[in-house]
Amino acid sequence: METAKRIANLGTENAFKVLAEVNKLKSQGKDIISFGLGEPDFNTPENIKDAGIKAIKENYTHYNPSEGLPELRQEIAKHISDTRKIKVDPEEVVVTPGGKPIVFFSMFALINPGDEVIYPNPGYPIYESIINFIDAKAVPVPIIEEKNFSIDVNYLESIITPKTKMIILNSPQNPTGGMIEKKDLQAIAELAIKHNIIIFSDEIYSGIVFDGEFNSIASIKGMKERTIILDGFSKTYSMTGWRIGYGIFNKDIAAHIANLGTNSVSCTATFTQIAAAEALRGPQDDSIKMAEVFKERSKLIVEGLNDIKGIRCLYPKGAFYVFPNVTEACKNLGFKDSVELQQYLLHEGGVAVLPRTSFGIKNKGEKEEYIRLSFATGNEAILNGLARIKKAIEGKN
Ligand code: PLP
Repeated sequence: METAKRIANLGTENAFKVLAEVNKLKSQGKDIISFGLGEPDFNTPENIKDAGIKAIKENYTHYNPSEGLPELRQEIAKHISDTRKIKVDPEEVVVTPGGKPIVFFSMFALINPGDEVIYPNPGYPIYESIINFIDAKAVPVPIIEEKNFSIDVNYLESIITPKTKMIILNSPQNPTGGMIEKKDLQAIAELAIKHNIIIFSDEIYSGIVFDGEFNSIASIKGMKERTIILDGFSKTYSMTGWRIGYGIFNKDIAAHIANLGTNSVSCTATFTQIAAAEALRGPQDDSIKMAEVFKERSKLIVEGLNDIKGIRCLYPKGAFYVFPNVTEACKNLGFKDSVELQQYLLHEGGVAVLPRTSFGIKNKGEKEEYIRLSFATGNEAILNGLARIKKAIEGKN
């Protein structure tokens, strides 16, 4: 069967491929410690699970509106209004099966072929994939170690053209754990207003911040109107498998996004939405505790990585990822890039990590090598995994 031409442009999320490889190795009896997939190892808090079970028993098992249940949209509007200090109405909220469809739907609704979309690189791979899929031009803005894994605003300004329709921001960031400082958000907001650019602000890790407070570009004066916020429940409430997230749009755009929902998934599971409403309404202790545990683990993993010859690692500011520089390690081991190191660590070291290129093609002139480790895994696994990496890297010399 011949595929449509456009399908060749669709990328993927390598974390799922590595997961499949890890599962295959495990089924062959290999012992692998995985720092691969970005999902909390905690279970969904009990009050949320109970709400979901009760909802099923009460027959919240039918279709519901494509834009989401009114009671959940109401809770989300209140949550975003409180946390971002802007006024959000329930009509501006669209609920989707996970935060991910918000990327897809927003691009479909707002970007024409040939439009330019600036996206963080390295970054969540779905941005680049969807931009290419819809025949827009993917313009990477480097996320660099020297800037503490933030954006160089002067560089960002230099790549804006009359065709730039959207800038994607992600803070705290996957895969680096970096955050965009308030003053940089201010400068980016000024650029967006000056050049009439939409900001797509992926705030899925806003509940996992280690130092200081989370800042949204939507909170800056004049920005709410031109910002799309992506957020959800997967990371903050450990609800990855429930598949629920949302976007905040102006009302007109929200209607188009909901219609894309009607045309594709119909709606988000009804009982899942009842559970999500409980997540926002109920006690926040479990979610706060998870973020604290992630902060402790971030110290453990960074210290361990910095103790390995040829690895240099910055402390993440949020999310649950570290992005160590492994250039020296690759050189010492005679590997051409982080893909070779990743394969070596997986097959010889028994440790799954992701290489730099799982998060976008390398930027022009980029010479350094990196890997991503997700520390959404227990302390024991972190310590054992670090010991394996150390042995694999230092033992080979
Ligand atoms: N945005 C970023 C930056 C992510 O890392 C992820 C998940 O890994 C998502 C969005 C999507 O999350 P969800 O599982 O809610 O679809």
